[in-house]
This record gives sequence, C-alpha cells and structure tokens, in this order.
Amino acid sequence: MSRNIWIRKKRFIFVVCIMIAIIFGAITLSNSNKNVDSVVQETGNLQAENATPPNAPPAVTQTSDIPGFVPKPSLNGSKASYDLSLKMTDDHSFIAIANITATNVSSDSWDKLELYMIPNLGGDLKMGEVLLDDRPVHYSLDKAALTVKLPEKLPPSATTHLKISYRIKNYSYFSNDGDTYVLAQWYPMLATYRGGWNLNYNANSEFADTDFSDFTLNYSLFSGYHLVSSSPSDADGDGSSGQLKADHILEMFVVVTKGMKSESKLVGDTNIRVWGYKLPQSTSDTIKQTAGDLLSFMNEHVGPYPYKQLDIVTGQHFGNIEHPGAVTIGLVRPEHLKQRVVHELIHQWFYGMVADDPYYDGWLDEGITEFATSSYLKQDSYLLHYLNLKGKPSNLPLDEYAENEFINSLYVIPNYKLSQYFDQTPDDKTGFKFLHSYFEKYKFSHVTTPEFVRFMKAYFRMKDNSFFQSWIVNESR
Ligand SMILES: [Zn+2]
Repeated sequence: MSRNIWIRKKRFIFVVCIMIAIIFGAITLSNSNKNVDSVVQETGNLQAENATPPNAPPAVTQTSDIPGFVPKPSLNGSKASYDLSLKMTDDHSFIAIANITATNVSSDSWDKLELYMIPNLGGDLKMGEVLLDDRPVHYSLDKAALTVKLPEKLPPSATTHLKISYRIKNYSYFSNDGDTYVLAQWYPMLATYRGGWNLNYNANSEFADTDFSDFTLNYSLFSGYHLVSSSPSDADGDGSSGQLKADHILEMFVVVTKGMKSESKLVGDTNIRVWGYKLPQSTSDTIKQTAGDLLSFMNEHVGPYPYKQLDIVTGQHFGNIEHPGAVTIGLVRPEHLKQRVVHELIHQWFYGMVADDPYYDGWLDEGITEFATSSYLKQDSYLLHYLNLKGKPSNLPLDEYAENEFINSLYVIPNYKLSQYFDQTPDDKTGFKFLHSYFEKYKFSHVTTPEFVRFMKAYFRMKDNSFFQSWIVNESR
C-alpha cells in the first residue's frame, strides 16, 4: 500500500489529535514529566561505560529533546582487542593467526570463552594450534561456535590472551567474484557476555553480536593483489603487504582483490571509494553521486560519519551487505541500485555505530535503516511488496522465523509502522530529528527492543504501548 493513502487518512486524524492535545495539554504535561522522572530512577547511571571512545570525532551538539532521559544501552561483560594476520598462500587459501586479548568486565568468573567461528560454516576451515596464555588449551568447534575451556577460572577484571591459527579456503560465505575474495567475519570473534555467553547464529542473520573493539591487521598477499577493509587507512590500490589499524569498530571486514579499480569522491573529510571491475562510467557516477549526497545529508541531519574512508565494493554476484567502513553492493538496474546504496550506507549509522544483537533485535538496524532509506529517498521501499500486516512480530528470535518471513518482520513492518507514525507529524523533518536524537544517545552502544520502545515513548511522550502492540512483543530475556 502506498504511503500517500495513509497521509490523506492521517491528516484528518492529525487535526482531531491537535484539538485534543490543546484541550488536555496542561494535564498531560505534568503527568509526562512524572513518567520521565520515573524512567530516570529506573535507569541509574549506566551510560559511562559506553561513552564515546576517546578517538571518536567530536559529537554533534547534544540535544536536550527529552529532559532528564538517561539512555540505558545493553551492557556487555566481555571486551576484546584483536591482533590479526592474514597471509595468502599458493593454493589461494589464507593462513590466519588471531591474537585476541579478552577481558572479563562482567561480575561473574568465567570457566570458558565463546567465540564465533563463521568460516566453519562457509568454507574449508582447518584449525591449527589454539593457545591460551602461550599454552595449548582444549576447545570444541560446533558449527559457528568455538568454545575454549579455561583451565582456571577467569575472575572479574582479569585478562587472558588467546592465539588461534587456522587456514581458510573457498571462503565465500557472503560473496565471491573472480579474483576477489570477500572475507566477512573471517576471524574468531569473541561473543558478548550478557549475564552469560550470548552466542546465537542463524543463517538469515548477516551478523553476530559483537562489541566495539580495536584491531591491528598485518597482511601479506600475492603480488598484484591489494586489500580493502574496514580500516580508515587502506592503501590506495597496490600494496600487497602492510599493516592496518582500526579502532572501536564492530568487525574487521576485508576484501582481497586483483584488478578492481576505484573512483573517489571527497565529502568533508571522508574519501568515498567505489570499487569494481570495468564498471560502466554511468554506474560509477550514480553510485558516487548517491553516496556523496547521502553522506552529506546524514552528516548534517543524523550525526557525523567518523572515518576518513568509506568503501563501496561492487560485483555482479555480490550480496548487499554492510560492514563498518565498507559495504558490498550487487550490481542491478539503476533504480534499485540507488536504494541499495542508500540502505547499505545508512547502516553505517544504524548497525555500524548504533548496534544491536541481530539474533534478537535485527529489526532495529534493518527496519530503522529501511525507514531512513525510504524517508530520505521520499519513495516506498522496494521491499514493500512483501508487506503482510498479519505476519509475525518484529522482535522474535531469528529461529522463530521461516526463511520467507523475516524480510516482512524485520524490514517491511517496522518501516511501514514508523512511516505511518511519522506521516502524522506536521513537520516532514520529524523522522530525521528523531533519528538524530536516537543516534546521539546510543552511538557506540547496543540497543535492545525494550530500550528503543522506552526511548520512543519518552521522545514522543506516548502514554502507553499502543503504537507497538501489533508488531512488537514484550519479551523479557
Ligand atoms: Zn540492511
């Protein structure tokens, strides 16, 4: 259904609402202040741990649009930093060594570590040695889950060092094309610890629940190959070996390629690079223009993109996948291409900086990104034909959706509901003002569905949950 039909219906409702609001304004104001105060008491002061990292760029001026509201992000008790190495070998497989420093910032003692090992799902993985503080250690590998048994309990505040050597071949979990190897989630990633190890994986999910971490990557490739990554300081073409760093990002995405060329566009301090094999000039121009306009808009209206590089890697057979600092885009007709580029780049804000657990709350990045995409482009999402208002709620664990259900529940329904809501507001900028406030309050932290509901209710001073009732279930976990 087109959003325009809703706009006409809702205009009438909106006028009635304004009249009611004027009549009851004084009464509701005093009540809503009480509501906000009680929210503050509930939340306490939990934001310090998730504050903006020291190396992040200066924030947009803090808004005071919800007086007294204290964000309550989802806290993680496991911190990691990664020192990775990646070496291309004769048979075009990769030998990798991951040195992971894991710190227990929970209040529990740990008897194991849990890590995602996604290459075990999508390629030929051969494990080498696994050392804990330089000693061999028992581990088990079950699908995407690598469990390392700790010989001694790791108490709160303690740190341990894990070294994992392995070899991956034919790794094409997300994308592969000619002389290009798309290495998404190619290294062991420490799971989050939220009252217990939180490691869930579903093939419909693009991502694992990881925390913001610092990375160093040393790489050695065959001559003629080069690397594009999440790091903001990739070399410009050439450079078959080197070291890269990336601080405070969710994952270290890597593309190893030979023969791809790039074109650049500078927006503010960010160099947008569009990569591809023999991309038609008109396609390259469309992507550059779309990405540049979008970046300027988001910088101004939502919050600044903080990195000096943004890579868009295109391929005929690529999936459209977002990663911090880099996205992959499958080449399609120009009208769909624009939506894909906008959607994947908006994920830099909603996924890359405002994170969520994709197993439980994937709609928070997919649905909000779809909403921002269609609002920005002022057109319906091309996914709208999946709309089924009788479909399952948007915040079920991924295992509860059939393969043909999650697009409707995670992408389409949230976009539809949010668009309906914001179409009622008199100012067509309300949606992005709301997203700006949401971004400012939760950047570099993880949000849950209940927290988003709490935020939206406080922002719009909603009196009850009726807006959410038909598409969000109240879950406690
Ligand atoms: Zn998406």
